[in-house]
Amino acid sequence: MTLALNRRHFNAALCALLVGFVPLAAQPAEPIPVTASFSILADIVQAVGAERVKVTALVGADEDAHVFEPKPADAKIILRSRLVVLNGLGFEHWMQKLLKSSGYRGDTLEASQGIQPRTMASADGPVETDPHAWQDPSNVILYVQNIAAALTRLDPAGASVYQQNAASYSAELKTLDEWAKAQINGIVPSKRKVITSHDAFGYFAAHYQLSIFAPQGVSTETEPSARDVARLIRQIKREQIRAVFMENMSNPKLIAQIAADTGATLGPALYVDALSGHDAAGATYLKLMRHNVTELVKAMQRN
Ligand SMILES: [Zn+2]
Repeated sequence: MTLALNRRHFNAALCALLVGFVPLAAQPAEPIPVTASFSILADIVQAVGAERVKVTALVGADEDAHVFEPKPADAKIILRSRLVVLNGLGFEHWMQKLLKSSGYRGDTLEASQGIQPRTMASADGPVETDPHAWQDPSNVILYVQNIAAALTRLDPAGASVYQQNAASYSAELKTLDEWAKAQINGIVPSKRKVITSHDAFGYFAAHYQLSIFAPQGVSTETEPSARDVARLIRQIKREQIRAVFMENMSNPKLIAQIAADTGATLGPALYVDALSGHDAAGATYLKLMRHNVTELVKAMQRN
């Protein structure tokens, strides 16, 4: 009894001693306030910053960043933060004005910096840059590196934490990517065709080698012309595409009409430019990608 007690005391003392020597990163008194432009990016920043940061998204779950209209409350959120993270590539066309009007003087980061941007020439318009780089998980690994570097500049004491979190999250992204490739490679190339509401899957389609068509362009700001919709309907019928999807953050009316006109089955919502709410299938970036790939593969099998 005495011996056991003594050993326990000894162990406790040893632990206390060891803890004193472990180089723990000093926790900031308060989590660092960070603003992310939209929900998917907020989730990625939170994965890298973990308990050292508190991330607020301006454009929330199931909301469309393309048509976002900032309110005075958004300027206050920015002014209180020490880092503003945006996607870049023209996604947040409202951000510059908002940053200026808020009087914010802190750091900003374009998380997509360094990726190879995808551009597309529209038939009757200028060349546009596709902002949806996060739809390719290998691009998100670069986002993670950029975010870890920006957080480290702001909070050097957390350097090792950011580095570790970035490494483990990147490993999860690689696992996701390999799983997605295996899933999609199970579909014969001639069946790898999908219709969605707007042209948000360019990076995804290039990375996983499938074709994704949409009545709307890379932004949801402009309505497609009747001619474009008619052309798409002819293509769906000609190529017998059964996989037609709506998106969680945009109006499903047009895509539902296209599905009805072509006899295709309208699939469940894909999570495209926004996370879902907490209790739905796209509550994190990793979950939304798994949901999208699973549903896309299921639908393409019917093509
Ligand atoms: Zn979009």
